[in-house]
Amino acid sequence: MKISKQHNLLIFGPQGSGKGTQAEILSKKFGIPAISAGAALRRIADEDSERGKKVKEYLNKGELVPGDLTNEIMRERILEDDCEKGFIFDGFPRNEKQMNFILKQGIPIDLLIVLQLSDEDGVSRIAGRRTCANGHPYHIKSDPPKIEGFCDDPCKLPLFQREDETAEAIKERLRIYHEETEPLIETLRERGILTLEIDARPKIQEIANEIQKKILETHGSL
Ligand code: ADP
Repeated sequence: MKISKQHNLLIFGPQGSGKGTQAEILSKKFGIPAISAGAALRRIADEDSERGKKVKEYLNKGELVPGDLTNEIMRERILEDDCEKGFIFDGFPRNEKQMNFILKQGIPIDLLIVLQLSDEDGVSRIAGRRTCANGHPYHIKSDPPKIEGFCDDPCKLPLFQREDETAEAIKERLRIYHEETEPLIETLRERGILTLEIDARPKIQEIANEIQKKILETHGSL
């Protein structure tokens, strides 16, 4: 598949729906970077600084990091050379304020992919989730790395269970998803942005195929 102009994608979905995994697959397929707001914020939380400490508190509680920090990180990231042909936002925007930021900046959005999964299924998937510091996600059963405990090439970083995967933090993240992120779907639809609703229950590759099939049907190619 060839990319003819810039294509900017958003992926929404509740916790455990496989957003990050699908964003990485699409990124490889279409040659545009997947940009995870959560991974970028976790890198800041690891800094030994006042800012790092504050961000970490929000992450561990499962709350959105307030203010313009996330907006600024995402805005700066898409100015980098590898976003020339487009990008995939994973975990951004998550509320109306962030969506208005995107619209105000004049960042065009071509497509919204919404992964659909029940909270119950998501929570049970998260129990087996492992992530590297760059945010590449694995699952100990359904999507294990080639070498146990380590991210695949070229990353190779150790995998860990995230500190914010406690039952309470996940409950709060799901609440935010349903109350603040889901309503954005309708607003984006009203603005004429094409929305693909995808069942997130099948196997990873089946979901990826379904997304690509729908992109072909609606866009011809990306
Ligand atoms: P998940 O999608 O499973 O919640 P992420 O890695 O995308 O996992 O996000 C983890 C955490 O990072 C969130 O709970 C929140 O604290 C923070 N975060 C992620 N995206 C945003 C955002 N757009 N704005 C503010 N905080 C965010």
